[in-house]
Amino acid sequence: MSKYTAPRGTKDITPDDMPFWHYIESTSRSLFSLYNYQEIRTPVFEHTELFERGIGDSTDIVEKEMYTFSDKGDRRLTLRPEGTAPIVRAYVQHGMHSKSKVSKLYYCGPMFRYERPQAGRYRQFHQIGVESLGSALPICDAEVIAMGVHLFDELGLSGLSVAINSVGCPVCRPVIEERLKQFIGLNLEHLCGDCNRRFDSRPLRILDCKNSTCKTYMTGLPDIRDSLCHECKDHFNYVVGYLDNLGIPFQINPQLVRGLDYYTRTTFEIGSDQLGAQNALCGGGRYDGLVSQLGGPATPAVGFAFGIERAVMILQEMSDYHQRVNPLVYVAPVGFDQVAKSFLLVDRIRRAGYRVELETSKNELKTHLKQADKLNARLVLIYGEDEANVDKVLVRRMADRTQELIPFDHALEYIVSELEDDTF
Ligand code: AMP
Repeated sequence: MSKYTAPRGTKDITPDDMPFWHYIESTSRSLFSLYNYQEIRTPVFEHTELFERGIGDSTDIVEKEMYTFSDKGDRRLTLRPEGTAPIVRAYVQHGMHSKSKVSKLYYCGPMFRYERPQAGRYRQFHQIGVESLGSALPICDAEVIAMGVHLFDELGLSGLSVAINSVGCPVCRPVIEERLKQFIGLNLEHLCGDCNRRFDSRPLRILDCKNSTCKTYMTGLPDIRDSLCHECKDHFNYVVGYLDNLGIPFQINPQLVRGLDYYTRTTFEIGSDQLGAQNALCGGGRYDGLVSQLGGPATPAVGFAFGIERAVMILQEMSDYHQRVNPLVYVAPVGFDQVAKSFLLVDRIRRAGYRVELETSKNELKTHLKQADKLNARLVLIYGEDEANVDKVLVRRMADRTQELIPFDHALEYIVSELEDDTF
């Protein structure tokens, strides 16, 4: 073991993992552009006050998890624990509200939270997120949720489920909180210190408590939706109706409040059955009060963020991940005389945008195939004397060991269609 290791809760993204990261980032960028979102990049650190005000000073993030420090000029700064507050800060600072009615933004980058590290939970992790600012319409919530679902479909992630709830607005929040307090108050002495402290100021936070004892006292909670005002109920029903209309399956989870104070109305989470204890892949919701709270004009907004590490974990669990993420074509010239022509084919495939390994140091088919297996190649192209004599290439699919002789000049076309076939 080397003397220095990466700090606890952080990790290197090694070349072995990198194809997954590139795949997730590039798929996200292309998909967001279909929805007409534009990228924004904000600093990795911000003034601490931004998060205290934005996320809420009685949340776990602000109370316990922020990396806060003073710089040499005595400014209180914090490594960003999430992306929404910085983006809203930038939105207000650059007067984006005056440039267009709706701003649709996405971001990608590292976030920092001092949490207890475990599988899927880090102190430096990476999020990709979207924020749509300027529309209060429920179709906008549905579009953001649908975009998340579309993205994870596109990435080929399986075993996902969508949970949705409404946490109300400033009009009905006091009613929701009062009803919750009546219920929670009966068992307050059994709940943890955090829950007791938050009981008066932020009772909704108690629903989000990770303490297993506290959780046992939450069964039979009053359904938040019964306390929603007329407008919030309507809004929720529209969101649910739009999702139904698109055929997106979801469950209503009346306890889903999420760990940040800024949410109003819709909250949602996309979870995976392949992630174990940390099963949340993506979380989001509407935050109609945040822009004005951070000094901008009253602007409704909705967004989500997902963790790249967790998406990578799911992809790595999937058996065909290598070939899906970055299929490899292994080219096996058998004999020195076949190298030049093989090289020509390799060049054509690479120019078409595919990853190719040309192996010229092996002369036996058996050793070529062993090496192709080791590299997890999806296709092997065998070009020996027999193939050269008939001007053909033998294309072998490693998944089912089937193979076909293809005329050399049609090989590229054939290989591309094989690599583009998702049902291999
Ligand atoms: P949040 O910003 O808490 O709503 O989280 C949104 C998503 O970011 C989660 O669903 C996770 O995928 C990811 N995430 C949050 N915290 C961590 C963490 N400490 N380590 C890894 N991923 C995280």
